[in-house]
Amino acid sequence: MSSYRLPRNVVPVRYDIRIEPDTNASTFVGRETVEVAVREATREIVLNAVSLHIHAAAVWDERGRRLDGMVRLDEAAEQAFLCFGEPLQPGAWHLSMEFAGTLDDKLRGFYRSTFTAADGTKGALVVTQFEATDARRAFPCWDEPAFKAVFHLTLVVDEGLEAISNAIAIDARPAGAGKKMVTFAPTIPMSTYLLAFVIGKLEATGAVQVSGATIQVWSVPGKRHLASFALEAAAFSLRFFTDFYGIPYPGQKLDLIAIPDFAFGAMENLGAITFRETALLVDERAATHAELTRVAHVVAHEIAHMWFGDLVTMTWWNGLWLNEAFATFMEILAVDAWKPAWRRWDSFGASRAAAFIVDGLRSSRPIEFEVVAPKDAEAMFDVLTYEKGGAVLRMLEQYLGPEVFRDGVRRYLHTHRLANAETSDLWKSLGEAAGQPIPAVMDGWVFRPGYPMVSVEDDAKDGCLRFSQRAFHYLGDGSDEVCWQVPITYRMRIHNEVLHGRLLLDKTEGCVALPGRPDWVVINEGGHGFYRVRYASPLLEELLRAPSELMTPIERFNLINDAWAATLAGIAPLSEYLDLTTRFRGETDRHVWIPLLASFGYLMRILPPVHWSRFEALIRDRLGEVTARLGWAPKPDEGDLERQLRGEILRTMGVLGNDADIQAQAKACYADSETAVSSADPSVLTAAIAILAHAGAEREYETFLSRFKSAKTPQVEQRYLHALTGFRPPELVDRTLKLAVSGEVRTQDAPFLVRDLLMGVHSREQAWAFVKEHWDQMERLYPSQGGLRRMCEGITALATPVLEADVRQFFASRAVTFGGRALEQYLEQLQIAVSFREREKSALTTYLTKS
Ligand SMILES: [Zn+2]
Repeated sequence: MSSYRLPRNVVPVRYDIRIEPDTNASTFVGRETVEVAVREATREIVLNAVSLHIHAAAVWDERGRRLDGMVRLDEAAEQAFLCFGEPLQPGAWHLSMEFAGTLDDKLRGFYRSTFTAADGTKGALVVTQFEATDARRAFPCWDEPAFKAVFHLTLVVDEGLEAISNAIAIDARPAGAGKKMVTFAPTIPMSTYLLAFVIGKLEATGAVQVSGATIQVWSVPGKRHLASFALEAAAFSLRFFTDFYGIPYPGQKLDLIAIPDFAFGAMENLGAITFRETALLVDERAATHAELTRVAHVVAHEIAHMWFGDLVTMTWWNGLWLNEAFATFMEILAVDAWKPAWRRWDSFGASRAAAFIVDGLRSSRPIEFEVVAPKDAEAMFDVLTYEKGGAVLRMLEQYLGPEVFRDGVRRYLHTHRLANAETSDLWKSLGEAAGQPIPAVMDGWVFRPGYPMVSVEDDAKDGCLRFSQRAFHYLGDGSDEVCWQVPITYRMRIHNEVLHGRLLLDKTEGCVALPGRPDWVVINEGGHGFYRVRYASPLLEELLRAPSELMTPIERFNLINDAWAATLAGIAPLSEYLDLTTRFRGETDRHVWIPLLASFGYLMRILPPVHWSRFEALIRDRLGEVTARLGWAPKPDEGDLERQLRGEILRTMGVLGNDADIQAQAKACYADSETAVSSADPSVLTAAIAILAHAGAEREYETFLSRFKSAKTPQVEQRYLHALTGFRPPELVDRTLKLAVSGEVRTQDAPFLVRDLLMGVHSREQAWAFVKEHWDQMERLYPSQGGLRRMCEGITALATPVLEADVRQFFASRAVTFGGRALEQYLEQLQIAVSFREREKSALTTYLTKS
């Protein structure tokens, strides 16, 4: 037990809290009475508080015996010690405190968010963001997820402002001096990090009733018309989860609130979910498929949490994946049910691939690992918790069967409702539903970092299919003697018959007897397994003769993604991968193009500038056929995925391929879109903006900058803001960098802007120099939770030996840490890129010269 953890001798049962903010002065005052259970006699109560002044603390018991307490704050440990003259005997006590604080300026705790309304007036909201450990900045509390309690909140706010919290408002009355006092109903017992309140001028959509709850979407004035898509997504999700979980929605109502300044994507406060604007507000007709799916997913994800996370909560932060992996898994299940044509499980391939990258690092970590300090809890909000966690759950669901899995989930939620649970509790419930023990299969995936690469060969002599597994790493000799229990699925054709098979590979090697020689074999059928596949050459050749006939899109996605990873890891030569890409010139599926386009972008970053034009020609060669097929104009009968693919292909042709014709057409397309009667397809328009930035100069820059500032939707604002990172002239790169520390770009967005500049081959050296010079300023400015961490993801693209050495030197001299292993992971990714560059340099030159 570390000193960060609170003792368990006194536990909260119910908080009655009254808070009164002063937005103009950026301060607040509050008082609270907490019903506590004293379990062992004590003279001291320890709870969490940070950056708060606690003026007074007193306790009294049932018989009215009252003791005043002395308050001591330990800012470093983020704890308050209340000391009493004599011991508090076991039993029920009331603890009252008065406190005051300052509204935070780093998008955490209780903070202020400002905005300019549609009519040009400036406004401000005061809002909360408590996860993981910032409720203690708003009121003294037992700020650990296991201390569930009832919250009964009263807010004193200016008349004319809306006040929203987790529960419904049950009373509002004048409080004098232009103020009103709003009292909310008591909540269910829940963890402190889920409490929320939002105060300000807000507008709501009409209410929708679903499963006994009223749903509304809230925004700052003038944006209500952008809320209907999210409202529809929310209504579907709430109904879907109520059915899936078989447990009524645990809240009294469901408000979804768009916050102009928000450090995360969204936050699952029970009944009062907060979002950054791009994740909630969208103009359905003018948005791209990617922008719409983002909203649908974030909404579904947060609503999934109302059960997974809010009703049943992890006991401590090491179990965060129980919340996040499940919400990730459930979000896809719900959106897939809502919009089957979007094929969200196929697009989840890209999320799984992102987890494969980090989890293939020597500096990876297990999904679940020990969390001691609060900073480590923040570091867990990463691709391993969400995407790897979601992927291994999908693998388990497919292994057990969807209905058995659902029954196990219901059992788990039902057993632990209004309480806390751990991974072993989940395994127990799923195991009971499945009638088989789960830990043996799952522990290796959850409590150990990494994953296997499964090699497969057709052993004609023994008439069998031979599998072997070993840990996949980008660096090192890969001789680790670990093995996973890998649920392998496969499909093959023998004697004109297609056979499906399963195997739990629980040793380093295994084999399956074959009734004959297969014509072809697909391993990881359906693509749900969290492992890579390496086919022996003859098997691969058979598949590649007709990949789009033999393999589904997600299987083709995995084939390319695994081949690319093997190339980066030095298991296969780059020329083999580049040859492989020629087989996919005629590929029609959007999801299959994703890893191809990503690998081209990566290669551009490791290539010396003298070879750029040859590489651009290679890209034009690989994309020529699909570009011609798609053209610029959407066809009447095509689906959303086809439209999205068109945008992505045109953009890659115009930017990475530097294609002059495409650039000219983009210019014409953009000019067209400026006319009042324009109906440019959003995906094409977004591509045109990126292409114009790549080819553009100051005039285009000015136009885009002003479009960013005057944007009427969050998506248009983001499109133009990120387009600024695509301009190549050094003076324009410099302007964008300055913009990122100017206060003109919200601090929620600025780290991403710098990250993109660090990733760009034309801007990275300038951006890196700027980051070094402005590090202290950025540290002060950006959100404390993940601001610099997200920005520094860009260092993975500084892929030259000289830059790598400089990056290492900088971080070593600064002793920078983001909590967890994020920095080590970035540095290892950088090392992989540089070693790859050095290893393949001459082969790549040769390849480009002869092709
Ligand atoms: Zn979540």
